[in-house]
Amino acid sequence: MKKQLKGRFAPSPSGDLHFGSLVAAVASYLEIKKTDGEWLVRVEDIDPPRIVEGASSAILQSLESHHLYWDGEVSYQSKRIHHYQEVMENLKRSNLIYGCECSRKQLKGVYPYPKLCRNLTLPINHISTNQRNYALRIKTKSEEINMSDLWLGDLSWNMESDIGDSILQRADGIFSYHLAVVVDDFLQGITQVIRGSDLLDSTPIHIHLQQLLGYNTPQYGHIPTATNSDGVKLSKQYGAKPLNNNSPLDNIFLALQFLGANPPSKLRDHSLDTLWSWALENWKTR
Ligand code: GLU
Repeated sequence: MKKQLKGRFAPSPSGDLHFGSLVAAVASYLEIKKTDGEWLVRVEDIDPPRIVEGASSAILQSLESHHLYWDGEVSYQSKRIHHYQEVMENLKRSNLIYGCECSRKQLKGVYPYPKLCRNLTLPINHISTNQRNYALRIKTKSEEINMSDLWLGDLSWNMESDIGDSILQRADGIFSYHLAVVVDDFLQGITQVIRGSDLLDSTPIHIHLQQLLGYNTPQYGHIPTATNSDGVKLSKQYGAKPLNNNSPLDNIFLALQFLGANPPSKLRDHSLDTLWSWALENWKTR
C-alpha cells in the first residue's frame, strides 16, 4: 500500500492572512491534495510577544472563506511546549547544546555566529530559565547538507561556514521556530513541506536537526515569495493588506496565477469550487 502523504500550512498568528501567506497555503494544499494526501493546519503561536490577539481565528476563518479546508484538528504550538522541552533535554544529553550569553547587539551583522561562547561551558542542566538568562545554541561542525527542492532543484550548504550554531532556546525560555517546527513536522508525520522561499535559510538548520535526532527529512519545496511593487516581501510585519474574505474567487485566481498555474480567465465567472477543481486537475509542481 502506498503511504499517504501529509502536508501542512503553518501560519504564525502575528496578523491576518495576506496574499503572500495565501500563496503558500494554496501551493501546499494543491501539492498534497493532488496525491489525495492530508493537509494539516498548525498555528505557530510559540512566540507570545509576536502574537496578535484574534489573529489565529481570523486566519482560520480566511482559510475557510477560500475553501481551503484542512484535515483533522488544528494544532497549536503553544500546547506542545512539553515536546520541545523533551527534545531539548535529549540534545543536551548528547552534548550538542551550549549556553550563549552574547547579546543581539553584540552580534549585529555577524553571521554565522563566531562561536564566542562555545568553550565557556555555561551551566545548562538543572537550572531554571530565570536563573539561566542566556540562550541555548546547537553545535555544528563542517558537514554538507544536501537537498533536492521541488521548486529550486539541488541545493547544498556547509553547516559550519554557511549556517553556524543556531539558537534553539532564547534567553527568555522561548523555544525557537527551528526546534518547534522540526519536532512538530516529525511528530505529526509530515512528508511534504511547501513554504515561501523566505524560509529557505532555515531549511539546512531543520535538516541538520532531523539528522541529529534520527528523524526522516520531508520533501521540501520553496515557492517564490510574493512582493509588493517595490520588491519588498509581503509580510504581516510590513503591513501587507489582509485578504478580503468577500472575494475569495479573485484571491485564489491571483494566487494560482502567481504560482504560474495560469487558470483560464473564464473561470472568474464560475464558482470558487469550479476554480478549485480546475486547479487540482491542472496543478504541476514548477
Ligand atoms: N510559521 C512560519 C511563518 O508563518 C512558517 C513555518 C513553516 O512553514 O515552516 O512564517
